[in-house]
Amino acid sequence: MHSKKILVSLLVLLVSLVGCNKPLSQKEGKPTVLVSLAPYAYIVKKIAGDLVKVETLIPEGANPHIYEASPQTVQSHQHAALWIYLGEGFDKKMLQFLKETGQEIKTLDLATGVTLLPGPGQDSCCGHDHKEGHDLHIWMSPQLLKGQAEKITEALLAILPHEEAALRLHSSELLDELELLHGTLSTLLSSKKGEVILVSHPAFAYFCQEYGLQQLSIEVEGKDPRPQHVAEILEKAKTFALHTIITEPQHSNKGAEAIAARLGITTHRVDPYTENYVENLLLLGEIIAR
Ligand SMILES: [Zn+2]
Repeated sequence: MHSKKILVSLLVLLVSLVGCNKPLSQKEGKPTVLVSLAPYAYIVKKIAGDLVKVETLIPEGANPHIYEASPQTVQSHQHAALWIYLGEGFDKKMLQFLKETGQEIKTLDLATGVTLLPGPGQDSCCGHDHKEGHDLHIWMSPQLLKGQAEKITEALLAILPHEEAALRLHSSELLDELELLHGTLSTLLSSKKGEVILVSHPAFAYFCQEYGLQQLSIEVEGKDPRPQHVAEILEKAKTFALHTIITEPQHSNKGAEAIAARLGITTHRVDPYTENYVENLLLLGEIIAR
């Protein structure tokens, strides 16, 4: 009984030590940068290299639109000096948490200032300035991502003011890399203008907008389609010269696979949320150009 009591007291002590300890980043001398999604980890690492520690909130393979982090997970990221996010439901909860705890963390909302496309199933923009109902897959266009990379550079400068030369140099190298990627994709997809790609989850609107393509999504407003809806998409797909069907690891691909089987088309798996951004978009371009 006694030893149990001691154990409990030790645990309480440990938790409180963890709770009010100095931020980890300060102890290690390296600030932690938190990003909601892995493609932004790629961007931060390119710009800041070893100057920061990068953490990603949404684990690989999780569906970011419905992801719920445990309080422990949220707490484990408290020591971050900068948090880069897009404004998904989870991001909003995290913001609320940070406000309540009075945490001194710099934040960067990447969607602010970007002309957002209406979300899937919404034909026109609502005209409000909130992001509800908008498509937030804004990293999927390298051209759009360049603007976001510039914002990220400024935010990194705010936490690493003495590293301006290195940050600006790496930032400009990254912008060159994204420009090169855009050029390659433009060439690769120049003969595909107007083509429709069928996707399990509508993450490709900004990519399609950039390269003159259209996405036809099986998932509607975050829900799996009913069989009747799959039949409707199949009919639509027949009217387009469809030859690209993309499945995504975080989402149900049953509808895509059923349609692919009916049309005799091979599906290709692309993860829009993967960290290896440039290689991933090249792969996507090559799949569509095939
Ligand atoms: Zn998505």
